[in-house]
Formats: sequence, structure tokens, C-alpha cells
Amino acid sequence: MQRTFVVGNWKMYKTPSEARDFALELVKELNGIKEVEIAVAPPFVSLLPVWEVIKGSDIKLCAQDVFWEKEGAYTGEISPLMLKDAGCEYVIIGHSERRRYFKETDEDVNKKLKAAISEGLKPILCIGETLEEREKGETFKVLERQLTIGLEGITHEDFPKITIAYEPVWAIGTGKNATPEQIKEVHHYVKSLLREKKGETKGFVRILYGGSVTPDNINELIKTPGVDGVLVGGASLRVSSFVTIVMAGRRK
Ligand code: PEP
Repeated sequence: MQRTFVVGNWKMYKTPSEARDFALELVKELNGIKEVEIAVAPPFVSLLPVWEVIKGSDIKLCAQDVFWEKEGAYTGEISPLMLKDAGCEYVIIGHSERRRYFKETDEDVNKKLKAAISEGLKPILCIGETLEEREKGETFKVLERQLTIGLEGITHEDFPKITIAYEPVWAIGTGKNATPEQIKEVHHYVKSLLREKKGETKGFVRILYGGSVTPDNINELIKTPGVDGVLVGGASLRVSSFVTIVMAGRRK
């Protein structure tokens, strides 16, 4: 059984020096916590300064995105090898903000996922429906499409390297988290779909919940059946709230 996994997505917040100072605070508060796996995802320019602070601690480094090519004339992009060399163990792929604002497709997500794995990075694949899709009763159809295309060509052997994050788009940054019932239903659906497509996955595919997780709702969310951890945006930007969320992971 894997440990509960808590990931802080800093999105486009904190300058490199702010990120460094913040990481120092986190190490002070969280180093030595073994029951929960902890990762932080700063913006690209802050990866190295944060890595310098957290390396050797119990906090792992995660990138927020990656490009699929190894190198080349792709101005503005970052390769899996660069992330690996900068200290990353994890990379978020297919976050809804990238799908929405940067028009990332499921096919792009699949290319990124395969490139990340081939360089030894562990992808956190984000999936989730919009409010409109949920209201039209299309939640499972959307998730099935995102998982089928997103995981195309991924072998059973590579499966343990992948974490899935169920992040309903309508819950991200809105202050309106999904209910435990909704989360339980989706996580159960995702686990059975993966089992059907990729064979037995029990015990090694982790499914996180993400969307307006806060210190106030974490105790209920983390205990929801099928939830193996959380992906946290806004509440990961303050030391006290992120620490409270990690600590709740210990009580799962
Ligand atoms: C996220 O960025 O993945 C996220 C879940 O954000 P928030 O916690 O702010 O809703």
C-alpha cells in the first residue's frame, strides 16, 4: 500500500526568492514526516532554488508541465531531461488550466506523459469534467476519453509510475469542493476503468482529489473511500494551511 500523497501546486505564484524562502519554512515544518509523501510544484524558474533547499529532506519536487521533445528549436518549452536534472521526481500533466487556456488536447497529454516516463519522471495526470459536462450527465464519458487517450500506449509495467488526479474543473479555485459522494463515485469509476483497460491496478495506482481543498474540508475529503491523497492549489501557498493539510494525511 502506498502512502497518502499530498502535492502543492503553486501555479504562477511566488518569485524565485519568495519560493526559496517559502521552501525553507516548509522544510522546517514538514521534514521528518514519513507517513505522508509530500511534493511541491513551483513555477519553472523556481524549481532550482527550491530544489537547493529541499534536497535531502522529505519534500519532493514536482514540475507543473513538460514538453514532449528531448531538445530542439521549441522556444519557451522545457524538456523532461531538464526537469529531471533540476531535481524533479514528479510532473503534473494535463492540468485543466493548461487544457483550458493553452488548448492542450488529450493527444498532447499522452505525448507528454510518455516522454516524462521515458526520462524517469513520475507523471501526475489530471482529469476532470467542467460544470456543463457534469450537468449534461457526461462526467464519466469525459473521464473515459481523457483516460483512454491520455494513457494510450502506457504499459502495465509503467502504470505504478503514474498518479491520477481527479480535479473537477468547477471545483478548482472556486471554493466549492466536490462532495465526498461525488468523489467516491468518480474514484470508484476510474479505478474500475483502469482495471478493465490495464489489468489489476489495486494497491499501486494512486488517485488524488483536487479542487478547493482547504484546512476546513481536508479531514472529510481525505477519509473519503478511494482518495489516496490530494492536489492542492490555493491552500498550498500558505505554510500554515499546507502543513495542516499534510498533517491530516497522517490521520487517514
Ligand atoms: C489545482 O491547482 O490543481 C487546484 C486544485 O487548485 P485549488 O486547490 O486552488 O482549487
